[in-house]
Amino acid sequence: MWVRKRIDIGWADLASAVGHCLFPKRVDTTAVNQCWRDSRHAFTCLSVRSGLDILLQALDLPRGSEVIVSAMTIDGILKIIAKHGLVAVPVDLQFETLAPTPEDVESAITDQTRLVLIAHLFGTQIDMQPYARITQQHGMLLIEDCAQSFRGMPQGKSDVSDVAMYSFGPIKTATALGGAVLCVADGKLTKKMEQIQQAYPTQSTLAYFKRVVKYGFLKFLSYRIPITAFIATLRILGVDYSEILKKSVKGFPTDKLFLRIRQQPCQALLSVLQRRITSFDERRLKRHCELGELLCDHLSQQYDLPGSAATSNYFWVFPVETDNPLETIQNLRAYGFDADQRGSMVKVPTVPTVQGEAVRSISTTDRILDNSVFLPIYPAMSQQAINQLAKAFCQVAVRPRRPEEDQPPLVDACAHSVPETLVRDI
Ligand SMILES: *Cc1c(COP(=O)(O)O)cnc(C)c1O
Repeated sequence: MWVRKRIDIGWADLASAVGHCLFPKRVDTTAVNQCWRDSRHAFTCLSVRSGLDILLQALDLPRGSEVIVSAMTIDGILKIIAKHGLVAVPVDLQFETLAPTPEDVESAITDQTRLVLIAHLFGTQIDMQPYARITQQHGMLLIEDCAQSFRGMPQGKSDVSDVAMYSFGPIKTATALGGAVLCVADGKLTKKMEQIQQAYPTQSTLAYFKRVVKYGFLKFLSYRIPITAFIATLRILGVDYSEILKKSVKGFPTDKLFLRIRQQPCQALLSVLQRRITSFDERRLKRHCELGELLCDHLSQQYDLPGSAATSNYFWVFPVETDNPLETIQNLRAYGFDADQRGSMVKVPTVPTVQGEAVRSISTTDRILDNSVFLPIYPAMSQQAINQLAKAFCQVAVRPRRPEEDQPPLVDACAHSVPETLVRDI
């Protein structure tokens, strides 16, 4: 079984994390800030959600101010925006780029708009320049959510936004099992944010240690033999492993969200974070990317892939559109592939405008989230596994009819028969 996701951290990193928990070095956030390469001010904190919450405290915007957001995000981000009395105004994504068009962003601006928050989704990278032009023109702040698109130090190559947020949470690339870095253009704002953070209690080393142990166990489980044994055991117990997996990688429980995010990172986490970002493995990322491109080559003729026309993509996750997502996921399991739907992503609820106009449609975002199956992809998978995955997918996934087609396709180019050995019931 190839599990849906393998935590992106090595055993040596985990061992070093245990070491740092037992013998914490005296470090503070400046140690991480100093090794961050970006032309703006680095601000290190417990998570992207913590950082955004601190940023909104520092900005202290009038209640009812509007934040224009990419229509897909994680639930926590919406809770934080709401906590500060702000209104998230979603702008629909384009299927091919996973970005809202600059025109749509501009047309969503009202007198109340103060912030624009654009997310680079699923490993894609969006050119921020057109949005920056708009926000500068209107005197608003532009924030980038780079939680799903860390590909090594940004090096100041494209620092056009006012704030860029990078996450090193458990399911993210180069994870430190927590921690985040925000790049903030305004020095004064950064100082204010530092002051707010300094008043926070510090995360307990024990809490971080527990995380290290938990994700170490999950990483062990994600190898093929352990996961097969684990699923078999659960099956005997009558438990669905999918639910367990989902619960286990949830970040902060929602009821305690603000208690949990309003903490400073502990020294052990900071040491691990520093290690992760300074020894980023570009070869691993390259391999991940190549596997993604291979899978694209197999599937793009037959299926529509969200983000297929993005400026760049390293395939943090690999969504494919199908007409029967649930059935596809179920059937892929029999071939030894653990696919998933939507993960923790949510649609941003649409809001009626003050003028009482009809709400802005986010139908493309609906389409992406409702119809996509996320295929497993990570550097540990072989090219052969990717080839098998593509074949299995073509066997089980029904391709949605494209509106321009009046005739169903006569030949199914990728409907090869699957070799017997591939059908592995786990
Ligand atoms: C994971 C994620 C976050 C949250 O990151 P944390 O560091 O866990 O708070 C925010 N936005 C997106 C798009 C994410 O994928």
